[in-house]
Amino acid sequence: MDGMSEYSGGCQCGAVRFHIRGELKEISLCHCRMCQKAFGAYYAPMVTVKDVEFEWTRGAPAHFRSSNLIRRGFCANCGTPLTYEAEQGMALAAGTFDHPELLPPTMQYGTPSKLPFVDGLHLLPEYRGEPDSSEQDFLSRVESFQHPDHDTGDWHPHVGG
Ligand SMILES: [Zn+2]
Ligand SMILES: [Zn+2]
Repeated sequence: MDGMSEYSGGCQCGAVRFHIRGELKEISLCHCRMCQKAFGAYYAPMVTVKDVEFEWTRGAPAHFRSSNLIRRGFCANCGTPLTYEAEQGMALAAGTFDHPELLPPTMQYGTPSKLPFVDGLHLLPEYRGEPDSSEQDFLSRVESFQHPDHDTGDWHPHVGG
């Protein structure tokens, strides 16, 4: 097929990775209280996996059944939310894609539960100051254990706290 899109992504630690071939067309936000809780966030950004080739290329999610009809996948090592799974199909947490900038949301659900300040988030003041010397010292000592935003051949997820 001409111009087939490919996408990759995974959890923060890199123990679970996925790959997709095909066009992803349904990108949404869900404001429902269950999605707020499952993502630990004000709302959940999700990409519907439909009419594409999907594969877990490293590891697989663990699951929590959040209701009789829905289960949610997450990385058992690092806790990153990964999936929303229902009878009709699966959606992936949009922020777990290596390039979420390619997947702008086009629809929102659960708006009766939308938190009242969400519509004003873009108006928040932006901190633009330089880090002070103690912050610079802290930042200079940071060594990231986060998986990079591309597939890796040999990768050893950081385990434990
Ligand atoms: Zn992980
Ligand atoms: Zn929801």
